[in-house]
Amino acid sequence: MKTVTFLGGVHPAGMKQPAAAKASLALPAGKLVVVLLSQHAGKPAIATVRKGDRVLLGQMIGVADGLISASIHAPVSGTVRAVEPFEAANGASLPAIHIENDGRDERHHGVKPAKPHWDDFSPEEVREAVREAGIVGLGGAAFPTAVKLTPPREYPIDTVIVNGAECEPYLTTDHRLLLEHTKEIIDGAEIVRRTVGAKNALIAIEDNKPDAISRFLDSLRGRTVFSVVSLRTKYPQGGEKMLIRALLKRDVPAGGLPFHVGALVQNVATLVAIHRALSSGMPLVERMLTVSGSGISQPKNLWVRIGTLLDDVIAGCGGIKGNPQRLIMGGPMMGTTLWTSATPIVKATSGILLLDDPADRAPEFPCIRCNRCSRTCPMNLVPTRIVNLIRIGEIDEAREWGMKNCMECGTCAYACPAAIPLVAWIRLGKYENLRRAKKSGGAT
Ligand code: SF4
Ligand code: SF4
Repeated sequence: MKTVTFLGGVHPAGMKQPAAAKASLALPAGKLVVVLLSQHAGKPAIATVRKGDRVLLGQMIGVADGLISASIHAPVSGTVRAVEPFEAANGASLPAIHIENDGRDERHHGVKPAKPHWDDFSPEEVREAVREAGIVGLGGAAFPTAVKLTPPREYPIDTVIVNGAECEPYLTTDHRLLLEHTKEIIDGAEIVRRTVGAKNALIAIEDNKPDAISRFLDSLRGRTVFSVVSLRTKYPQGGEKMLIRALLKRDVPAGGLPFHVGALVQNVATLVAIHRALSSGMPLVERMLTVSGSGISQPKNLWVRIGTLLDDVIAGCGGIKGNPQRLIMGGPMMGTTLWTSATPIVKATSGILLLDDPADRAPEFPCIRCNRCSRTCPMNLVPTRIVNLIRIGEIDEAREWGMKNCMECGTCAYACPAAIPLVAWIRLGKYENLRRAKKSGGAT
């Protein structure tokens, strides 16, 4: 089987074992769950419950505020103890609904499929069901999926790409989903393909998961609209633009989106959530995540209710081992380093890592002009140039050099032998660009 890839990228150690070999388990929800109203791209949801209300599993407790927003549902049955801000992973205090779990998982009467079979839904009914279920991209971006399923008419989609790359080190949930939920992923891809009217669906899996590739090849025998494609294991192979480049040899234009080149990319976890919403009526109230790293006693892949506190997740994995210095939500390349474990799981949380700092962490040196950052950048940027401009406050010029096209994948910083925190500088540059634009009332 031929293996495809994109230009650039790096090869960090995979660190996928021992979690990859472990079948997923369900973590019982804790006594308290804290559901943030802002855990997606766009505007926060608006709370529809008050302190003292009884809520049931799957009940809508926050309604989407406009098109680019997502509804929020109760992940347990119980009593609303507070509707007040709570600390999110990024340190911001965000509005949240605090629910005392009664442990009964009593379902809301509205949790039932609108039609007997997913096959019976029209494209518009699929979009409506996905919107109602509060589904967002579970690969990390948390963009409302119903919007993604509604590309502009002038940009027809010919190919749906099922993203099973999972290129971040340590993370293994997509791998487990590929093995444990093969049929739901295929059905989910078919739902999406029909909804957007695409001719083809490509199942893209990195070649470090040969068991998943075999599983899909076997399951899709005779299904001509589906193809399974092996991707070279490389970071950031799972980025939408990298996948489209590797699979379709099309370049998404700067500032553009996949629909501009006739493609739609969906992560495997999102497809499972879509299938579940249509076939059972259950909205997005839980997700699978990987708990791993040298600092956790029992690495696992867990189904966790949205709103579960990190402390409960860590306890469910036997607690902390040793004295890890870093707690990360997400993967080590693009995840967020946390200073507290008193924060809840959100829809986009793909992993929790507890890591020791490498003993040989290199100090930062001046740039040696080796060009490695440019050679590895998957977006064809010149990170060293952009960062030098940001350092001296030349934000407009940094923008001209493509600062805004940076996807913050961290590849350049990983490759830099001088240990320059390139991506941290670029984030700072983008923030400064926004701040200046807001101040002047101009465009960003
Ligand atoms: S973080 Fe940005 S500049 Fe660095 S490699 Fe990724 S896309 Fe390129
Ligand atoms: S990789 Fe680091 S040292 Fe090399 S050119 Fe880029 S910034 Fe300079």
